[in-house]
Amino acid sequence: MSKGIFFVLGIDAATWSIVTPNLHKLRNFKRLIEVGKSKELILKEKPISASVWCGMFSGKLPEEHKHGSYVVNGEIVKREDIKVDFIWDVLEREGKKVKALNVPFVVPPYSFGVNFKPIGFGLPTNEKEWEEELERVTEKTKLLIEEKPDLLIAVYTLLDRIQHFHWGEDYVVEWYRKMDEKIGELIFDTGFLDVEEDNELIVISDHGFCSFGEAKVQTLPEHTKEGKLNLKGDHHENALLITVNVNYEMKRPQDVFYAINFFASKNLY
Ligand SMILES: [Zn+2]
Repeated sequence: MSKGIFFVLGIDAATWSIVTPNLHKLRNFKRLIEVGKSKELILKEKPISASVWCGMFSGKLPEEHKHGSYVVNGEIVKREDIKVDFIWDVLEREGKKVKALNVPFVVPPYSFGVNFKPIGFGLPTNEKEWEEELERVTEKTKLLIEEKPDLLIAVYTLLDRIQHFHWGEDYVVEWYRKMDEKIGELIFDTGFLDVEEDNELIVISDHGFCSFGEAKVQTLPEHTKEGKLNLKGDHHENALLITVNVNYEMKRPQDVFYAINFFASKNLY
């Protein structure tokens, strides 16, 4: 029987290079940084969303999980094609209650123990879809917090998409502000960090962002449904990490898996 909830809030492509200079507009990020520990997670692996999210929740390196792209040989890769156990598989076998929402290691993003229809097949492309994802992931996640699972994972994908199309524009900061509001609703308005049980929190991105020409690996054209567009931004190796109450040192995305495992093992009795 566990006490608290371990909550991993994933924000695809959230980057310190936007958060840090705009903290005066991002009051909930600011509060989180004040109550938790924050760092830049520098990826040694390629900053490919499918691969990093897969490693984060399986604990495996890219050469071990071998999942490097949403599409291989013209076929969409499915959960069953990836021969690993994820943290939700492991904990459920141990009798733990696990909920995972909208995890984008595959498209459409994967959910576990939750009924959720991803927006835009997990590749939301316009303002209407971005709003919809922000609202629906937030509302669903609030309900899941009330269910008090042992592990809760929820991921927003929209910033990745917005930054590919609008990197360098004030428009991007505007969406971080909207995201910041939702973080406030999820983490602070619910009292998640106020309860006496020791809830643990990880807020993490799979990679950072930079202008398109600066990126070492160009990631988008291979998996978009809209083909080649005028892309302004691409993935950077520096990801965002903020933890609250997590006593496990995190140096790479895979450590999310191990931090959860550590939490689960100490909460056995
Ligand atoms: Zn990503």
